[in-house]
Amino acid sequence: MKKEVVVVGAGLAGSEAAYQLAKRGIKVKLYEMRPKKNTEVHTGDKFAELVCSNSLGSNLVSNASGLMKEELRRMGSLLIEIADETKVPAGQALAVDREGFSELITNKLRNMENIEIVNEELTELPKDSYVIVASGPLSSEGIAKEIQKLTGDDYLYFYDAVAPIVTLESIDMDKVYFQSRYDKGDGEYINCPMNKEEYDAFYDALINAERMPIKTFEEEKLFEACMPVEKMAVRGEKTLLFGPLKPKGLTNPRTETRDYAVVQLRQDDKDGKLYNMVGFQTNLKWGEQKRVFQMIPGLEKADFVRYGVMHRNTFINSTKLLNDDLSLKEHPNVFFAGQITGSEGYVAAIATGLMSAVNLYNRMEGKNKFVLEDLSSTGAIIKYITEEKKDFQPIGPNFGIIRSLEGKKIRDKRERYNKLAERALEYLDKELENINIF
Ligand SMILES: Cc1cc2nc3c(=O)[nH]c(=O)nc-3n(C[C@H](O)[C@H](O)[C@H](O)COP(=O)(O)OP(=O)(O)OC[C@H]3O[C@@H](n4cnc5c(N)ncnc54)[C@H](O)[C@@H]3O)c2cc1C
Repeated sequence: MKKEVVVVGAGLAGSEAAYQLAKRGIKVKLYEMRPKKNTEVHTGDKFAELVCSNSLGSNLVSNASGLMKEELRRMGSLLIEIADETKVPAGQALAVDREGFSELITNKLRNMENIEIVNEELTELPKDSYVIVASGPLSSEGIAKEIQKLTGDDYLYFYDAVAPIVTLESIDMDKVYFQSRYDKGDGEYINCPMNKEEYDAFYDALINAERMPIKTFEEEKLFEACMPVEKMAVRGEKTLLFGPLKPKGLTNPRTETRDYAVVQLRQDDKDGKLYNMVGFQTNLKWGEQKRVFQMIPGLEKADFVRYGVMHRNTFINSTKLLNDDLSLKEHPNVFFAGQITGSEGYVAAIATGLMSAVNLYNRMEGKNKFVLEDLSSTGAIIKYITEEKKDFQPIGPNFGIIRSLEGKKIRDKRERYNKLAERALEYLDKELENINIF
């Protein structure tokens, strides 16, 4: 095996991974197919392009994404350092000057002695080098086929339409009720009732909200299979009342009548901490989803652990295929990082990029692997994507997957999250003291 690593894709994960390896003295061949070959959404030729929002989400440690950023700072992440350097005013969020962010990263990597940039699409993985596959949700067809060969046909998932997921504890339980339509089942759905006035305001906001740009060919292919809620709404003011917002078969226990409209939420994880919005596959911009869906009674303060998406998304079934150091079980010299692992969002892509590189470095140097426990936000997401489970769907940083605090439950959410963050950072600092790779 050559003492060299091939990294596929100079996106968020691949750029972070290449940097982490190169700074530790490892030779890296970084393949990036743009600008010769573009994806459906990337527009430029720079590395680590932010394909949609210029916000990396909350910067507060009392938010799981903010906590992950702080963990990444402590582990020496290049991308978070450059995000801090290029930040623009955005309240408690870490938003960046998109161009400046990509430019600084590109320049840094181009000038690193150990990195060779290859501006080509990689379609065949080398057998004699270590590899990190970080080709993202819009991986080229060529590499997707190659991955399928490695993992078996069944294990490369594409999904087109996904509804948002919120945490149970952020739902206002005084406004909603548990019930199944026609009382079939154990009342396991959470129902968010709306009166006519509320529905009208929501409808208006929904049809006027900003959507993500999507290519026509993709739209035709995706939308015939699964129509986004905002597109269904445009068909007529009452269409949703016969679709995802239909109140039929439900009786509000508070008023003992049928509501004008009802949004249903379905349990999404085995512990019942997460709920998805039934029938709410959507192509609205993420900020718009928050604004419009928080108009739904009971969801005013909803924490979205994942926003809805309508686009091609390539991800492997990591829960079956990957070890906890992000290497393939069947081909341990091949590592995966970024959205293709089933982690969701910019910051998780950076985190898996960093962790895959550190683990690969350790492997090459004959050191122990570096696996963080689910006490940290980074450890929790990697544990989530690499632990066996049925019906694996991508997930972003959230407190629902971080190990609960021991002892009496702290009822105040902010206080509890602050405690979890404090515990996470103490734990991480101890781990970093014990190893000398950072
Ligand atoms: C339309 C869309 C909108 C999104 N919006 C947001 C958002 O607002 N906020 C958020 O947090 N997350 C968002 N995401 C999710 C996710 O965080 C981003 O996609 C993120 O960029 C993923 O990082 P990555 O490194 O895995 O992939 P990418 O950043 O996409 O990087 C992959 C790179 O690999 C290259 N590549 C692909 N195939 C090959 C090949 N065969 N050879 C060489 N190079 C190749 C690509 O050109 C690309 O540069 C969005 C995703 C999509 C698709």
